Amino acid sequence: MPDAGGQNHKTDVIIIGAGPVGLFAVFELGLLGLSAHVVDILDRPGGQCAELYPEKAILDIPSRKSITGQELTHDLMAQIEPFKPTFHFQQMAEKLEKVENGHWRMVTDQGTVLEAPVICIAGGGGSFMPKKPKLDRLEEFEGKSLFYAVRKMDQFRGKNVLIAGGGDSALDWVVNLQANNIVSGMSLVHRRNEFRGAQATVDQMYALVNSGKVNLAIGDILKLNGDGGQLKSVTLKSAEKGEFDVPCDAMLAFYGLTMKLGPIAEWGLNMDSNRVAVSTESFETSTPGIFCIGDMCTYPGKLKLILSGFHESALMAHGSFHYARPNQKLRFEHTTSSSAIQAKVGVS
Ligand SMILES: Cc1cc2nc3c(=O)[nH]c(=O)nc-3n(C[C@H](O)[C@H](O)[C@H](O)COP(=O)(O)OP(=O)(O)OC[C@H]3O[C@@H](n4cnc5c(N)ncnc54)[C@H](O)[C@@H]3O)c2cc1C
Repeated sequence: MPDAGGQNHKTDVIIIGAGPVGLFAVFELGLLGLSAHVVDILDRPGGQCAELYPEKAILDIPSRKSITGQELTHDLMAQIEPFKPTFHFQQMAEKLEKVENGHWRMVTDQGTVLEAPVICIAGGGGSFMPKKPKLDRLEEFEGKSLFYAVRKMDQFRGKNVLIAGGGDSALDWVVNLQANNIVSGMSLVHRRNEFRGAQATVDQMYALVNSGKVNLAIGDILKLNGDGGQLKSVTLKSAEKGEFDVPCDAMLAFYGLTMKLGPIAEWGLNMDSNRVAVSTESFETSTPGIFCIGDMCTYPGKLKLILSGFHESALMAHGSFHYARPNQKLRFEHTTSSSAIQAKVGVS
C-alpha cells in the first residue's frame, strides 16, 4: 500500500526508483551503515523487471542460471530487508532544492518531503506513466472521476465503477475492488472478448461476471459523458450492439504504461542524449551530492544491464559516504570477514 503522502522524513540517502538497481543500492548503502528512503511512481518494487517482464527468464544475473523478473525483485527485497528501507510508492519525485545545511530537500507529487545529504537517482528508463485513451474531454474528468491508478481503495467506496482495459492491472482491480466489497456496481469494458491477464485472474473475473457482480461490456469507447468533472456514463460502440451507454460514476483506465524522463530533466544536471552524465569513479553527477546509477546514467561504454547497475550501486555507496558521514573515515570491508556486517544482516 502507498503511504498517505504529505509527511516529512530525514534519511542518509534518497533513492529515486525502486527498480533492481535502486533496490540493490539500498543493500550497498546498508553495508556502510547508511539509511535509505526509496520513492517510486509505481505501486510496487521491481521497475522494468516487475512491470515489463515479470515471468521472463533473465540469464545474465551472476550466479543465477535463470531467474524471472519477479523472482529477482523478490530476492532483492529479501536481501535488503535487514536494512529496513522506507518505501514511498505511487509518488513521483518532483521538486529538488538545496537547503541551508547543504542537504537536499525532495518533494513528491503527493506532498511527501524528504531531506538527505545525498540523492541517488536510479530512475531507469524514466518514471512509468499511464498511457491515456485518445478521447475528447479527458482532462475535464481526470483526477475527479477518471483515474489511472488506485491510490486508496476507499476512494471508490459505494461507487459504480467502470474499469477499462484487458491486462493484469484491469483484471486485478476488478477482482480486488469486488473482493473487498468496496463498490456498489462494477463494469469491465474491453474492446474484445479476450484478456491478456494471468489465467487465474481471468477465471476469477468470469466467475464474477457469471454471478452478476460484474457487467462485462465489449466495445470501443467513443465518448465520456457527464458534467463538472463527474462522469455519468461512457458510450461504447460494438459491431453487434452498435452504440450503447454504460453508466458509471468513476472510471479506472488501464491501458498500459510508458516511460518518461519526467521532472529529473529539470534538476539542472548535465545530460547526454536524455541520460544523466556521471563520472565512473563514484557515479556522481555534475552536481555534488547527486548520484545516478542504472539505466538512467550514461558514461563511455555504459551497458544497460542489471549487473552494470549493481556495480554502479557499490561505487555510488562509497562515494556517498563522506557526504552522509563527513567526520568518519570509510573502512573497506569484505562481507565474508566483517562481523559488523554479518551482525547487520543477521548472518554469522
Ligand atoms: C523486455 C526487456 C528485457 C530485458 N532483459 C534483460 C536481461 O536479460 N538482462 C539484463 O541485465 N537486463 C535486461 N533488461 C534491462 C533491465 O531491465 C534494465 O537494465 C534494468 O531494469 C535497469 O534497472 P533500473 O533500476 O536502473 O531501472 P528501472 O528498472 O527502469 O526502474 C526505474 C524505476 O524508477 C522509477 N522512476 C523513475 N523516475 C521516477 C520519478 N521521478 N519518481 C518516481 N519514480 C521514478 C520508475 O517508475 C521505475 O520503477 C531488459 C529490459 C527489457 C525492457
